[in-house]
Amino acid sequence: MNRYRIAGLPGDGIGPECFEAALLVMRAVEKQHDLKLDIEAFSAGAEHFRSHGEALPKHVLDECLKADAVLLAAIGLPDVRRPDGTEVQPEMMMGLRRALGLYAAVRPVKLYPGVNSPLNTATHGIDMVILRENLEGLFASFDGGCILNDTVASDTLMITREGTQRVVDFAFRLAQSRQGRPSDGKRKVTCVDKANVFRSFAFFRKVFFEVAECHPDIEADAVYVDAMSLFMVTSPSQWDVLVMENQFGDILSDLGAGIVGGLGLAPSAEMGDKHALFQPSHGSAPQLAGKNVANPLATILSAGMMLRYLGDRHSDPKADAAGKAIESAVMRLLAEQKHRTADLGGTSSTSQVAQAVVDQLAHGNAS
Ligand code: NAD
Repeated sequence: MNRYRIAGLPGDGIGPECFEAALLVMRAVEKQHDLKLDIEAFSAGAEHFRSHGEALPKHVLDECLKADAVLLAAIGLPDVRRPDGTEVQPEMMMGLRRALGLYAAVRPVKLYPGVNSPLNTATHGIDMVILRENLEGLFASFDGGCILNDTVASDTLMITREGTQRVVDFAFRLAQSRQGRPSDGKRKVTCVDKANVFRSFAFFRKVFFEVAECHPDIEADAVYVDAMSLFMVTSPSQWDVLVMENQFGDILSDLGAGIVGGLGLAPSAEMGDKHALFQPSHGSAPQLAGKNVANPLATILSAGMMLRYLGDRHSDPKADAAGKAIESAVMRLLAEQKHRTADLGGTSSTSQVAQAVVDQLAHGNAS
């Protein structure tokens, strides 16, 4: 039996409730798939900063570095800020990404049966992935911007050849493992940039097409980010894998969540060569915290992605099957349209939805 060490970061706001929900589901698949998950939760984030003066204690970072994977629920609180006016949340998020070398953020945008999209054009379905470069771009400036004489402020966007090559190569490998775009099954990677205006993005695009030449079996094209935000709404079935700079990925992945049911259904995987972190794309939604009303499915789906990653990395079919079982259980739950939280138009609580996923897992196993 393979044994995996998971560092858990429940975090702030709705984070702990969503983490509990994912824990319930992971305990269920652990039994069903004969896995051993050593999951330990650590205190970090904005509340931790408020009481201890630091968002990401060194011993927590060390545990994340030692773990086979990290599962983070949500961090940050709008009222916990640094003297420069920024939140403490990026200090922890960027700290983790940099220390763990998480250069590729995989954000699936998938419309599940039974979920209403606000778009009426989704005739072929929506199933694309936003691949966000996760260490460079505008976020490279984190902790480094400057303000001159209280009159001018600047942050610098940085693109490197190495950083672009590795995320673009990841994008093509990801496309290879997928079924292609929903409209016709064509495998395709699209570079999303602003190469018409900025040298940095013209460079990103140039490197993109250099890497694309090594993957001749997959179509490669490029679209400006402003146009892509239109196309994601008008023709969402046309897209397969979209690779882009950090800040663009941050923004377009929320747009993507919006067209497939909202942030409560948007999981993510942040990947490096040695480490990986999984988290919902949403934040801590402080207005919902402590009420048992948040949608836990994005965190549960992120836990599913984590198990599939462990299966892939350790050639472990049991972990892979457990991850797939979680996504299937969530799909069946959504298709039934019985148990859902208020963001999806239902009246179920966070814990009821988590239990309903566990029940679906049991049915899936029995059938
Ligand atoms: P948010 O994602 O917390 O909320 C945006 C909207 O989506 C809100 O209307 C919220 O109610 C809703 N929502 C989010 N998750 C939901 C869920 N699981 N179920 C139902 N509804 C949900 O973003 P925000 O309000 O801009 O930020 C709140 C805090 O979260 C801030 O402190 C921010 O810095 C932090 N944040 C953290 C992360 C992270 O942990 N990686 C990401 C984004 C924002």
